[in-house]
Amino acid sequence: MIDIKSMTRDELQSFITEQGFPRFRADQIGGWLNKGVTDFDEMRNIPAELRKKLKSICYISVAIIEKKQVSRYDKTVKYLFSFNDGECVEAVLMDYHHGMSICISTQVGCRMGCTFCATGKSGFSRDLTASEMLAQIEAAQRDAGVRISNVVLMGMGEPLDNFDNVVRFLELVGCEQGLNIGMRHITLSTCGLVPKIYELAKLKLQINLAVSLHAPNDEIRARTMPVAKAYPMEQLLKACRDYFDATGRRVTFEYALISGVNDGDACAEELGKKLRGMNCHVNLIPVNSVEGTGYLKSNLQRQQSFANILAAYGVTATVRRTLGSDIDASCGQLRRKYIKN
Ligand code: SAH
Ligand code: SF4
Repeated sequence: MIDIKSMTRDELQSFITEQGFPRFRADQIGGWLNKGVTDFDEMRNIPAELRKKLKSICYISVAIIEKKQVSRYDKTVKYLFSFNDGECVEAVLMDYHHGMSICISTQVGCRMGCTFCATGKSGFSRDLTASEMLAQIEAAQRDAGVRISNVVLMGMGEPLDNFDNVVRFLELVGCEQGLNIGMRHITLSTCGLVPKIYELAKLKLQINLAVSLHAPNDEIRARTMPVAKAYPMEQLLKACRDYFDATGRRVTFEYALISGVNDGDACAEELGKKLRGMNCHVNLIPVNSVEGTGYLKSNLQRQQSFANILAAYGVTATVRRTLGSDIDASCGQLRRKYIKN
């Protein structure tokens, strides 16, 4: 079956004319899809013959809310969505940066196996299609009755390991007739697949790139992130510089502070030296404890000391406010519980 919601406007037009119907029908169908219809029979201005044809060869991707948790502390909402085949992913809706932001998933599970990550511990099931990424945003928007202005690809999965679908999603989400979210309002987070960062840079999209570093050198990094063995930090940082040169967009480094693993002053010094002079920003995040990992958050004093050392090297760093700490808002945690129960 054909995933009609993953088609671009041009593709939909060619597809409809190939079926022997006039081109203008494509925009009518696109309009209905953007409105969030889930059944071709809801497309009232489309002739019955075309609806029947579409039903026999296409499907409309949906994200169904299986579970929802609302934080008592802030308005953060965590969703567990299921798709047409029953696979589930998580998304988190946050009131952040002067508007509503959503953190969406790009894969069911993840192949990268980071040891601190609930998603990484659950293995990999499949890639998400572009329409399934869009459907998460649309479903949350409808449920919460808000307009979402920012999107972060920081949920389950490694976006650059699902490159073609993610790039297609970026094209669709920016479409004026659709969600119309500009590239500058989108952040893609990667664990550091170096060749894919170069590929992304070539597209010169104006999206923000976040890179999960979590260590100042390969030896410490490889203890928690297997990807460090494939792509050494030196190559990764070079790719980040190239990304900035190609796009003019400053790269953000994510650094989860894990007590006794990567949070010592020596780690901060080493990181400061490596990032000195680079056009970047460091987000320090106290690690979210995931059952079975044994990792604990660094205390406040450690967090501050780490940030101060980076500042002494001229590297700007902020300790990120954690939202939804009572609702397993770190992606992968809710799904793990759901699947276990
Ligand atoms: N695969 C991509 C994006 C999804 S993970 C990546 O790794 O960047 C989104 C972010 O959450 C990453 O920075 C990741 O390192 C971080 N993360 C995963 N588990 C975490 C945990 N238990 N505590 C804090 N951050 C975590
Ligand atoms: Fe995958 Fe990112 Fe989790 Fe690593 S941190 S396992 S790359 S989702």
